[in-house]
Amino acid sequence: MKKVKGMRTGAQFLESIREDGRQVFFDGELVKDVTTHPVFQGAAHSIARLYDVAADPVNGALMTIPSPVTGDPVLRCYQIPTSAADLAARRAMSTRWAEETFGLMGRTPDHVAGFLTGYAAKPSVFAEAGKQYAENVTRYHGYARDNHLYVSYAIVPPQIDRSKPPHKQSDPTLYAGVVAERDGGIVLKGAQQLGTGSVFSDALYISCIHPLAPGDEAYAFAVAVPCNTPGLKIYPRRPYAAGATSAFDYPLSSRFDETDSLIVLDDVFVPWENVFCYRNLQLCRDQWWRTPSHSYGNHQAQARYATKLRFLMGLTKRLCEITGVDPMPPVQIMLGEMAAYATIVESMLQAQETQASVDAEGVVWPSKSALYAVMALQSEINPKLLNMARELAGGSMIMLPSTVKDFDNPAIAADLDRYVASPGFPSRLRTQVLKLVWDLIGTEFAGRHEQYEKFYGGASFLVKQNMARAYDFKAATALVDKALALT
Ligand SMILES: Cc1cc2nc3c(=O)[nH]c(=O)nc-3n(C[C@H](O)[C@H](O)[C@H](O)COP(=O)(O)OP(=O)(O)OC[C@H]3O[C@@H](n4cnc5c(N)ncnc54)[C@H](O)[C@@H]3O)c2cc1C
Repeated sequence: MKKVKGMRTGAQFLESIREDGRQVFFDGELVKDVTTHPVFQGAAHSIARLYDVAADPVNGALMTIPSPVTGDPVLRCYQIPTSAADLAARRAMSTRWAEETFGLMGRTPDHVAGFLTGYAAKPSVFAEAGKQYAENVTRYHGYARDNHLYVSYAIVPPQIDRSKPPHKQSDPTLYAGVVAERDGGIVLKGAQQLGTGSVFSDALYISCIHPLAPGDEAYAFAVAVPCNTPGLKIYPRRPYAAGATSAFDYPLSSRFDETDSLIVLDDVFVPWENVFCYRNLQLCRDQWWRTPSHSYGNHQAQARYATKLRFLMGLTKRLCEITGVDPMPPVQIMLGEMAAYATIVESMLQAQETQASVDAEGVVWPSKSALYAVMALQSEINPKLLNMARELAGGSMIMLPSTVKDFDNPAIAADLDRYVASPGFPSRLRTQVLKLVWDLIGTEFAGRHEQYEKFYGGASFLVKQNMARAYDFKAATALVDKALALT
């Protein structure tokens, strides 16, 4: 493949994480090489494909910008936006990548890149805690950008006992926290969730987005560590590729299971230059809300979600064509309702850009009200859309050949050709489409996706509180006052 000079290719990405000493465990054993292991290699190659798309000269203008330091092309998701047009360009880049995974990989390299870019856009917030933190956050962003890094994150404490703050858990080293300070850095111990993509990423950002209280200072930190750091252990849940018997039968589970992991830190040493927040409750909170990190990261998340909905709409339309119900008015009404939700999500994504604001330091913020409006509704819209697709599918996505091998047996294939076919959709094609539908809305992979859309941006009660903070209640209550003045 021809590539843009200096860009990282998929092969280079795979080579760099191959047997690099990372501790990933599966089935009770250490995984030697996540790029070739049968349950991980599909997703590893999907991430590699993203790097190839970005390195392809045809996509140069879309996917890259010149590094402000080296002048070499780097991933656009690391660009600090200075205008609404820059935000739109970020969206276009993320949409292109999302199309490659049909919106089914949430924590692709552009997600945490958005957070790192948000921190680097506001070093002043970090400087309030000490100028070294501002320098560290700026330097790390430049390092990640100029080396095309894939960073994942674990920023939520494990659900051990949510009734107590971190320092009051039965053991103070259950939740990830600082246990020692050395000349060159700090030592971390404990666990953090839910490292999506950490099996494959170059580095992990570890911090805490949950509210912390006085007494929790040891848990109020933010660091970045390479995934092969000694003492860092990555425990993924069961990968769905493990049950994906073939790419034909499980076209999505076999390729796009980005994995979710418990991250355990066993006395992990972090040098000071990779520490961005240290024992500081205020900065630990401010990094999410007084910088555009959460906004940039979730602007990407919405570009990904809008793409996934377009895929769901396409598949739902196709399955209605297969079963022949497509032109029926009640079906058209359901498709129209689904399309309305999909269009709202797309439009709210663009509204984040058209309603963007610029702060006193010249930093561009996507509209928070547009972002949180769609995120707050996502946990309700998404199951509704899946339910409508199920309603329209009937038994079509169930009544399918057991595996692709059925087509190899002429006697079985004859029956399939006769009874599992529709006008315009011979048996194999019909089966192929409907296996895609099942993998999107019915399999274990699909179930995880439903949970992902509910929780990827935090529990919905928290997202709705973000919305309550973003909404212009002043303007709303001013109208009430105006009405009162009439009486
Ligand atoms: C598939 C998936 C992938 C994810 N990927 C990542 C990732 O890559 N990195 C990352 O850091 N995070 C990730 N997350 C998000 C994350 O780790 C949490 O799941 C999410 O923030 C919700 O927190 P929780 O699971 O601890 O739920 P909890 O906070 O324990 O909430 C669960 C439920 O308990 C109730 N509840 C809890 N607390 C309260 C309260 N104070 N008041 C009222 N009700 C309450 C609510 O009903 C809530 O929905 C991911 C989540 C999922 C599901």
